[in-house]
Amino acid sequence: MSVKTTCAYCGVGCGIVATRTGERSVRIEGDPEHPANRGRLCSKGTHLGETVGLEGRLLHPMIGNRRASWDKALDLVARRFRDTIARHGPGSVAFYVSGQLLTEDYYVANKLMKGFIGTANIDTNSRLCMSSAVAGHNRAFGEDVVPASYDDLDAADLIILVGSNTAWCHPIVYQRIRARCDAGAKLVVIDPRRTETAEEADLHLAIRPGSDVALMNGLLAWCRDAGALDRAFLDAHVTVPEGFWTLADGDLWSTARTCDVPAADLRRFYELFAATPRTVTLFSQGVNQSLAGTDQVNAILNVHLATGRIGKPGAQPFSITGQPNAMGGREVGGLASTLAAHMDFAEGNRAIVQRFWASPTIAAKPGLKAVDLFRAVGEGRIKALWVMATNPAVSMPDAGRVREALAGCPFVVVSDVMADTDTGAFAHVRLPAAAWGEKDGTVTNSDRTISRQRAIFPLPGEAKADWWIVTQVARRMGWKTAFAYDRPADIWREHVRLSTYRNDGTRLFSLTGRASGGNADYDAMEPFRWGGTPFADGRFPTPDGRARLVPVTQKPLAAPLRDWPLTLNTGRYRDHWHTMTRTGLSPKLARHREEPLVEVHPDDAARLGIANGALARVATPQGESLYRARVTDAQRPGELFVPIHWTHRTSTGGRTGLLPRPLADPISGQPGFKATPAAIAAVATT
Ligand code: SF4
Repeated sequence: MSVKTTCAYCGVGCGIVATRTGERSVRIEGDPEHPANRGRLCSKGTHLGETVGLEGRLLHPMIGNRRASWDKALDLVARRFRDTIARHGPGSVAFYVSGQLLTEDYYVANKLMKGFIGTANIDTNSRLCMSSAVAGHNRAFGEDVVPASYDDLDAADLIILVGSNTAWCHPIVYQRIRARCDAGAKLVVIDPRRTETAEEADLHLAIRPGSDVALMNGLLAWCRDAGALDRAFLDAHVTVPEGFWTLADGDLWSTARTCDVPAADLRRFYELFAATPRTVTLFSQGVNQSLAGTDQVNAILNVHLATGRIGKPGAQPFSITGQPNAMGGREVGGLASTLAAHMDFAEGNRAIVQRFWASPTIAAKPGLKAVDLFRAVGEGRIKALWVMATNPAVSMPDAGRVREALAGCPFVVVSDVMADTDTGAFAHVRLPAAAWGEKDGTVTNSDRTISRQRAIFPLPGEAKADWWIVTQVARRMGWKTAFAYDRPADIWREHVRLSTYRNDGTRLFSLTGRASGGNADYDAMEPFRWGGTPFADGRFPTPDGRARLVPVTQKPLAAPLRDWPLTLNTGRYRDHWHTMTRTGLSPKLARHREEPLVEVHPDDAARLGIANGALARVATPQGESLYRARVTDAQRPGELFVPIHWTHRTSTGGRTGLLPRPLADPISGQPGFKATPAAIAAVATT
């Protein structure tokens, strides 16, 4: 029998037709009817079937190294959280969750923490992925709304990719872009590295890392001077702060110098943009994962707002998400900085949500964001932590410090699919969670399309769905009625009702009309996109209905430090996902890149005596790790690139999480993974 579900990996959210062929085997095919992929799958999606075995699975609750019953494990978790809250207050506990969770899982975790425990100390690994885009959308539009859809790519005449190796990280979106470019659209890639995506672009601007604001402000100035602003749209729909235009004063040559790109290339880009109304600017981690990530997002949004390239077919800014359900997490409020259903912590919103949940309390203010959350664990301010479906011991910046923090935390719970994860090694209690192919629920992809994930296999061993685990702990903490869910559909219906409850019509996020059906309707749910075509009427979800240009200025670019003269960039490989707990199971995927490489420019390699294929040690003030060197002029001189996937568990080298600084954008809290001061040295081999 075949079931329709969605891919376990990236935010493209491809539909899959999965046909079970044995006890733990499945045939995977792209769903020709799913709007995200129309039947196509990339290498990761295609080989999902190689990852559904039970090898390495956590199949029973564990207290320490001993197998325990669910009752015993859940009682212990509930008791330790209750006792910690009683002794130290609600702010002494935290959840760190994941864009791998389904929306229903996310919803109950958020409800438990914010409405019943009474703190907003629930953050997510999506903080590391797209929180700068969330903050940028809120500043410009008044709500975290991605205006674009994939259909816009089919209608664009110019597609600009900023900080995105789309060909590797969102391959099915890239196939769609490629098809559009084959039909005549132009492709501009803005990325310090000459990636596989940049290789195929009509124009590649290999900008100096962190110079994005200068580039976009320069584009704004060019459009103004070339008469390419949409004055009518600005007058009718956009608030322009006083003095805004004085920020857009860079001439072409000074901008080219700041960005370290040829002025002729910059001019070509600016002319192309000014002459092409149907332009989509798609951006991801290269923009978001910066200490100025929110400003970089707003620099892009400013250009689109000022030229009226928003809310129209083929004319949109488009932030794409990394994880399969980063967007679903945003919808339920699964970030420490949001309350629920696209509402913030304003007094009126708190009252609405508390009334809806009939909860004894409600979080008064935003909670600790990821970097601060783990700092608080290390400082002993968080005394009980529950990590769900993610691996912060290796994926957080300055992961060595995070490991020390976890080791010193009085009570750590990890719910995960795998028995042996880097983070699980620090857990006092490990809870076996359902994996992809066993879970039922919903996810939302990058273009706001909500799809069902459906189970193919029965739950193995004693594994349970994440929503069930959270609900059981909540009930044991004393909140039986509020968490009396029997199935994901119960949670979905409540989520839908909250999205419409007392919505005064200003918020775009609403699932009106999606809750009327029963369980059968939930089971049969077809993919649908919420929000229609946002901003098509020029109205924005701000109090005055107008979007806002946000004045942003280029921060001074740091000069190389004497001991750390290079700039370290981190990112992904095509065939691996996060810390490889799933893709590491697939022999076919492992073939693409068998080990972690540090990419280094030939000039730096020659100067430092690093041979192609030799081992090299990359160091930063936070830590060091070994890699095999790949000498390539795809890197800019002075810059290094390493992948994020290998960990303490999987390798003696390539432990990239040890290297970045534990610093974050002050507005979004998103850590900067793209520009860490670093050094590299050859490793002598005997
Ligand atoms: Fe899965 Fe993303 Fe590949 Fe689609 S593009 S098959 S969602 S990994």
